[in-house]
Amino acid sequence: MNALDVLGRLDNVTGRCGKWMACCPAHEDKSPSLAISETDDRVLIHCFAGCETEDVMAAIGLSLANLFYNKLVVNELTEGKRRRYEEVLITERLQVAIINSAERNERPLTGTERARQLLGQHRISKIEAALYE
Ligand SMILES: [Zn+2]
Repeated sequence: MNALDVLGRLDNVTGRCGKWMACCPAHEDKSPSLAISETDDRVLIHCFAGCETEDVMAAIGLSLANLFYNKLVVNELTEGKRRRYEEVLITERLQVAIINSAERNERPLTGTERARQLLGQHRISKIEAALYE
């Protein structure tokens, strides 16, 4: 679990570089009042309207435990290596998402796209395993 996984479940997400705002799923939220950020070992969530973090997480089908990375594994990776992994992960997720959306639009994938999709999925699972398990 990382910030991207949490952001993917929220609406009206804005921001970048480790700090985001989104509509809080735990109360009737017209303008985004949920702050999301991440530290080295966890995702931080704060609702400025006063919702409990536990309620916010429950509203998107997650638990408080999902906010914490696996400390042991994160500590085993050097900071530089972790950053590179995360950059590759973002690129690969984007690549796979683009190919998946082409597939959903019922255009048959070319052999190259199919191969790239499989390679991307393989890389994502390897990197996620190294980063978060
Ligand atoms: Zn709230």
